[in-house]
Amino acid sequence: MTKKSIRDIDLKGKKVLVRVDFNVPLDGDRITDDTRIRASLPTIRHILDHGGKIILMSHLGRPKGSPDPKYSLAPVAKELSELLGRAVLFADDDKVVGESTRNAVDSMKEGDVVLLQNTRFRKEETDNDPAFSKELASLADVFVNDAFGAVHRAHASTVGVATYIPAVCGLLIEKELEFLGGALDAPKRPFTAILGGAKVSDKIGVINNLMEKVDNLIIGGGMAYTFLKAKGYEVGTSLLEEDKIDLAKELMEKAKDKNIDLLLPVDVVVAEKFAADAPHTIVKADVMPADQMGLDIGPETSDLFAKTIGESQLVIWNGPMGVFEFEAFAKGTIAVAKAMAQSEGVTIVGGGDSASAAVNLGFADQMTHISTGGGASLTFLEGKALPGIDILEDK
Ligand code: ADP
Ligand code: MG
Repeated sequence: MTKKSIRDIDLKGKKVLVRVDFNVPLDGDRITDDTRIRASLPTIRHILDHGGKIILMSHLGRPKGSPDPKYSLAPVAKELSELLGRAVLFADDDKVVGESTRNAVDSMKEGDVVLLQNTRFRKEETDNDPAFSKELASLADVFVNDAFGAVHRAHASTVGVATYIPAVCGLLIEKELEFLGGALDAPKRPFTAILGGAKVSDKIGVINNLMEKVDNLIIGGGMAYTFLKAKGYEVGTSLLEEDKIDLAKELMEKAKDKNIDLLLPVDVVVAEKFAADAPHTIVKADVMPADQMGLDIGPETSDLFAKTIGESQLVIWNGPMGVFEFEAFAKGTIAVAKAMAQSEGVTIVGGGDSASAAVNLGFADQMTHISTGGGASLTFLEGKALPGIDILEDK
């Protein structure tokens, strides 16, 4: 089901309440990474270009349901104003929607931009409280959600508000739906999913859902060792989820029944301890030393995975192949990212760590799409409902 976006509605003269993701990392009142603020600019500019008045709202950090100056959005207003090249009025109102906010919004003119205070200054936000949702909705004619990172949560600013005024998505969410949604609804084939990261248990839902759709399933990262163990190999001191060995066996059986090619590491990089400078060697996956742990896939595995990626028309990747935070154990993750970057097919990266790996390794512009929502993109890959999207108007 496609959702209406800001492209499908009349914005002229309207007050547009936009839920953005301004949950940026702060060091005191200094913003250390403004990626999320920059990401909101296309939607803001589109609304301004079409004659709308913009009221922005977001959460920031985890204030405990009451005002906490540490989590004020004031620094964001300043940064946004610089990036936009126009004034942004910060409605510095601890009630979020109080007297002063109402006054500020009442006197807005076409082209004005107002930013509300952190929605989590009100405990009703995370309770998805109807009264607070109504207060938010009363500020505007239309609601726009563009905070993909928050759509898996049913809060007042993501779901409640949308029950009182017309609700559509912004350009960021539109893009997520087009690529993530499009890929899963009508996948190009061969379709390969690459799953990695630390734990099988984090990704069971994703594996189960993707098993219904893929032609090839590549498993690397820490979770591969539970699968290798299920195959009967010894995995030394690697990450191992004993209670998921049976599940791994079932998943391998299921792959066979469904004719899915399930690829596991054939060689691994092992070390005695989990450390950036740990001496390491490459061994075959079926002869891992008892006192060592696998911290990356080996070069033969990288080649094997890269070959399958190269032959695919659609690749979705979630979860690093090794402990990529340590340079010595980042090679497998780099190899996979590189193979995707060189692919002619559609390439999609989802998940917090995988997305930052793709960006930090310099492959961002060569991917078809990098999803911006960590938890939300996983929920999407699990095929589960996203309340912040479901509530938006259908096309
Ligand atoms: P994402 O955020 O993309 O969904 P995850 O959070 O599931 O990814 O996994 C990322 C983490 O998995 C990284 O911190 C990485 O160091 C860790 N990891 C990957 N491979 C291993 C391994 N072999 N042993 C221990 N940790 C690993
Ligand atoms: Mg993660």
